[in-house]
Amino acid sequence: MRIANRISRLGTETAFAVSAEAAAFAAQGNTVFPFHLGDLNMPTPSTVVDGSFKAIKDGKTGYNPSAGIPEIREALAANVTATHGVTYGWENVVMQPGGKPTIGKFLMALMNPGDEVLYPNPGFPIYESQIEFQGGVAVPYSYIEGPEGFTLDIEGIEASITDKTRLLIFNDLQNPMGVESPQGEHERLAALVRKHDLYVLADEAYFDMRYSGATRSFVEQPDMAERTVILYTFSKKFAMTGWRLGASIGPKEVVDVIAKINVNDESCPNHFIQYGALAGLEGDQSEVHAMIDTLKIRRDAATTILSSIDGVTCFLPESTFYLWPNVTEVMGRKGLNDYEDFRRSALHATGVSFCSRIHFGRPSPDEKSRYIRFAYSGIDTAQIEEGLTLFKDWCEA
Ligand code: PMP
Repeated sequence: MRIANRISRLGTETAFAVSAEAAAFAAQGNTVFPFHLGDLNMPTPSTVVDGSFKAIKDGKTGYNPSAGIPEIREALAANVTATHGVTYGWENVVMQPGGKPTIGKFLMALMNPGDEVLYPNPGFPIYESQIEFQGGVAVPYSYIEGPEGFTLDIEGIEASITDKTRLLIFNDLQNPMGVESPQGEHERLAALVRKHDLYVLADEAYFDMRYSGATRSFVEQPDMAERTVILYTFSKKFAMTGWRLGASIGPKEVVDVIAKINVNDESCPNHFIQYGALAGLEGDQSEVHAMIDTLKIRRDAATTILSSIDGVTCFLPESTFYLWPNVTEVMGRKGLNDYEDFRRSALHATGVSFCSRIHFGRPSPDEKSRYIRFAYSGIDTAQIEEGLTLFKDWCEA
């Protein structure tokens, strides 16, 4: 086969390879403590399940509008209007098969070949993959570790802006770091967007995954709603990762373009799942709240043990379901300076499986600190305690 040249620029999510390795290790009869994947080991709320079954029985199984059924576009617009401090109507919402498709479609709609796109690194690896695949120039920005946690490297972002910079990808409530920007960072970022006439993808995959306080969206900043497409997903909030439903929410002009891309790509989103998700949005939220309560207990258990390890620092995030401990000292002490050596040694010695810095975008050669990522969404509290105690003993041995 002669594979097309462009495929050499397409990246992937290497976290799935870590899953496969953990599964192979478990198949040999070993206990695995799965911290590698941002999936949930919790059932989808019954409101969504019942709503979907009803829709199937009601015959909602044919094609539907490429931008999604009007009822859910309406309901999502009302939902986001209530939480984002910006008024959206149904015409600002185009449904998607998950959150991820918004990344590629946002770039298809707004990026020309050669345009520079700012994106978080460490960050969700699909940004880098899609920018480069579609012929853009991926320009990374990062976060800086301080005594209180991580802060956005705004100076770094500003220094990277050139006359070719067109777009900014911002993932507040961030994967893999669990970081959230305070209002001051939103203001400074919005000022840069205005000054340099940029358009923004606000990846809000974890908008509702929080343990205290309230999420403030970047679109609340003056003029930002007109310049921003929100990546919305049902995957995390409703434990629907495998159902595949999300939306792109933003200015009508770009939403219409994305709807046209839908026609070309998948015709329309799944018909009956939209009714299920509608029932989830409008129905009783007690199962959703119970999920957050469970995740909070897991977060506390995991952070307590990780931050007690000699040579590890681990901040306590108020959102997402990820922890991003700094393991520089432990890796040095154990003489395991390669990320994959460290990960595999830990897996084989303890069964604890996690991803590391290298799974979240290409590291820059001048990075000195070393980080690994623990997802606590797919593992129960008792297993978290058992696994991380083994990991602590191994780190300190
Ligand atoms: N953005 C971020 C930051 C994510 O972590 C993920 C999923 N891990 C997505 C987007 C994609 O989510 P979905 O499963 O809805 O496609």
